[in-house]
Amino acid sequence: MPLEPLLPLFHRLNREHFELSLLRDGRPLVALRWSDGRLTRTAGFYRRGRHSDGRDLCEIVLSRPLLEPLPQQALLSTLCHEMIHAWVDRVLGIREVHGPHFRARMAAINGQQSGFEVSLRHRYPVPVAAARWIARCPRCDLSSPYRRRRQGLACRSCCQRFHGGQWHVSCLLQFEPAAA
Ligand SMILES: [Zn+2]
Ligand SMILES: [Zn+2]
Repeated sequence: MPLEPLLPLFHRLNREHFELSLLRDGRPLVALRWSDGRLTRTAGFYRRGRHSDGRDLCEIVLSRPLLEPLPQQALLSTLCHEMIHAWVDRVLGIREVHGPHFRARMAAINGQQSGFEVSLRHRYPVPVAAARWIARCPRCDLSSPYRRRRQGLACRSCCQRFHGGQWHVSCLLQFEPAAA
């Protein structure tokens, strides 16, 4: 899939599933962009805050490396997921992550159509071609591909299990070059 322009998809989803509520004065309430090649921890995210120069920031960022190789359903489902976050935040004005409002809207959208399915989590595998490193947890032996070597990264589930969610040196991931 070549990099698809996001705005037409946004308008379509906004019309079909958000009663046009994500537009104000004809302009999207949230900016959209593709990430650079490094966003691989998630397929997309929504955030609101401030730019360093003080301007308001409200955007949806979609992962180019994860979504580009996948069928369009993955893009639609990720974009729609992030649009639900934007809707809960900007339209309902409610602070929640995957709370009851998010889940109700997700269930409604999934019930209305079968072209894609929104889920609570959207991690897609890092394409093998993009992975140059394998990070292995010394405790649980779980390994996952990474595009670049990262310092100080610990296994989340082991930190959770053995250290009450605190980062601990014994769960430090060990990076090895991925086999070519
Ligand atoms: Zn989410
Ligand atoms: Zn582990």
